[in-house]
Amino acid sequence: MPILEITNLVKDYSTGSTMVHALRGISCSISEGTTASIVGKSGCGKSTLLNILGGLDQPTKGLVNYKGQAISSFKSNRLADYRKTEVGMIFQSFNLIPTLTAWENIAMALAIGDIPRKRRKQRATELLGYMGLEDRTSHLPTELSGGECQRVAIARSIANNPKVILADEPTGNLDTETSGQIMTLLRKLNKEEGKTIIMVTHDLEYANNFADLIITMKDGQIIETKEKLPKS
Ligand code: ADP
Ligand code: MG
Repeated sequence: MPILEITNLVKDYSTGSTMVHALRGISCSISEGTTASIVGKSGCGKSTLLNILGGLDQPTKGLVNYKGQAISSFKSNRLADYRKTEVGMIFQSFNLIPTLTAWENIAMALAIGDIPRKRRKQRATELLGYMGLEDRTSHLPTELSGGECQRVAIARSIANNPKVILADEPTGNLDTETSGQIMTLLRKLNKEEGKTIIMVTHDLEYANNFADLIITMKDGQIIETKEKLPKS
């Protein structure tokens, strides 16, 4: 059974008198443990799709099944649990809270995930250690480089041990070398922790290097799905 299955997903945004058809009937299936990349030009609907998969937005029509259950059928507390503990999200702009230190940003996610207060600092520190940031735990985001901020954001995204990581252009603000480090970390999370990772990128080379499954979108539709054969 796929971990995520999307059927005929449609998303329309109405802004005033105009209607934007952001997703025009998308279907695809992601197996557990897959690394997938979603590529396509700006405006083709990549972020819309990722936000719907993350339970942050709702489709106009169509279904998202998580482990065989429709997200749209989730009651509000089940949906909140889904967002807190089944999926972790990473964004191009990191979205760290600027007034909190690295470990406090992660502790906040742990608090949302109902981890007891006295365990949060230790767990946050361990996660930062896994990201190679053991000497940055008490730094504010302004005291960190872009790559370090993204590593804190990745640590935060896995704080509540989600099965799936959704990454929206995670290297969009980073230089080539730092981007490579972020990709390596994401691959490590796939290989060592078995995370299913869906990464949006407009860089075809990153997509090809990173993913087992490459989904190409255009104007709200999937125009190609390419599966890389395992190396033998
Ligand atoms: P991508 O991530 O591929 O650049 P998006 O998913 O952000 O594309 O956007 C797809 C289309 O939907 C674009 O035309 C965009 O302007 C539109 N769009 C996205 N979010 C909204 C919104 N909240 N309200 C209205 N239109 C939106
Ligand atoms: Mg986008």
